[in-house]
Amino acid sequence: MKFSQPATARTVNRLRVLNLLDAYPSLSRSDIARMLALNKPSTSEIVEQLLGEQLVEEQGKTVQRNGRRPTMVALKHDARLVLGVDLGTRTASFSLSDLKGNLLRFERLPTPRQPDAKEFGQLVIKTCMKLTRISSIPIAGIIVSCGGTISEDGNTILNHEYWGWKDVPLAKAIEMHTKLPTRLVNHVKAMVQAERWFGNETTKTFFYVNWGEHISSAWVHANTISCERTRFGHLPIAPTGLCRCGGIGCLETIAAGWALSEKHQGLSVKQLQQLNDDAVVKSLSLACQAMAMALIAASAVTGCEKIILGGGIANLDDRYLQLIQDFYREHAHHALAEIPLVRSQLKDRSSVLGSVASALDHWVFHRSILETMQGLDQEKPLLETE
Ligand SMILES: [Zn+2]
Repeated sequence: MKFSQPATARTVNRLRVLNLLDAYPSLSRSDIARMLALNKPSTSEIVEQLLGEQLVEEQGKTVQRNGRRPTMVALKHDARLVLGVDLGTRTASFSLSDLKGNLLRFERLPTPRQPDAKEFGQLVIKTCMKLTRISSIPIAGIIVSCGGTISEDGNTILNHEYWGWKDVPLAKAIEMHTKLPTRLVNHVKAMVQAERWFGNETTKTFFYVNWGEHISSAWVHANTISCERTRFGHLPIAPTGLCRCGGIGCLETIAAGWALSEKHQGLSVKQLQQLNDDAVVKSLSLACQAMAMALIAASAVTGCEKIILGGGIANLDDRYLQLIQDFYREHAHHALAEIPLVRSQLKDRSSVLGSVASALDHWVFHRSILETMQGLDQEKPLLETE
C-alpha cells in the first residue's frame, strides 16, 4: 500500500478507527481524533462511514466536566459474524462468532484418522452451510485453519503431510456452496493470532508450540509469523523410536499425542492423565523432558523473548509444566534460562479461537496489516487524509 494515495490513507484510517473502537467500550469523536492524531473533519467523516456500514452505533451522551455532552460511538458487536473452522487431527470445530469473539453457534465433528479429501471436504462444506444459512446477521467471511502448507492466495491446501492431501482447493469449494468469501490458514499461525487477539499477547518476539496429536511451532518476530516450513516436532531428541515422518528419534516419538496413545492402549492424553498410573506418569515426564530439550534448542537458535505452549497437551496439570520449566532452566544457556516459558492464556480454546481470530482479522479488522504498516514506520503516525 502506498500511504501517499488519499484513498489508501482513508482506508487505513477507517481501519484504525474501527480497531480503536474495538479496544474501548465507547469513545466520542473528539476522543478518536485525539487518540489517533487525526483532524476532526476526517474523523467525523470516517465515523459517518462506519455508521453507514452499521459497524458502529451512537450511544447516549455523557456529561463532561465542562458541561458539554458529546455523543459516544461504540462498536456494534453483532454487526457482522464470522465463521471460524478448525480442522484438527482428532476433531473439526465450527465456531460462528460475533465481532467480539463471542461464540453464537458451535459444532464439533470427529476427524477421521486418514480423512479422504473429497468425503471429508463435503462434510465440512455441509456443516459450513448449515451454520451460515440461517443467520439473519451478515457473515463477513469464513476462515478454515488446518495443518499443512497453504497456497499464498489462501485457496488451496498444497500439501497436508499427515493426511496425504495434495492441491486440495477447499476454500473455493466452500465459497461456491456458501456464497461466502473463504480463506485457508495454517493452524499454528491461527493459534498465534488468537494468542494476540484474545490472549492480549504483546511480546514482539516469541516461540510458540502447538503441542497436540502432532507437534508444530511458529516463530514470531516483529509482525512476521513463520511456521509452515519449520519441523520442530521432528528435531532429533532420542537415539531410537520410529516417527510417523519416517525419521528416527524425533521429538514427536516421545512427546506427541499419537506416540503417547500408542504406548498406552490408544487412550488420549486427557484420559491418560486421569489414570495416575506409574507407567503413564513416567511417559508424560519423559515427554516433558524431551519438550524442554527441544525448547532449549529453539531458544538458543532464535533468541526468542518468550516461549508459549499451546495445544491440548500443553494443558497437562501444573506439575508437568513445572517439570518442563525446571528442566529448561537447568539446561538452557544462562542468557536464555530466565526467559518466560508459559502456557497459552487461552488454554484448551486456542485451536477453536485461532480460526475465529484469523477470520476477524482477515474479513473485518485487518489488524495484522495495520501492525505491519506501523511496524515499518513506527516513528510517525500513519498519514492523514486531505
Ligand atoms: Zn519425525
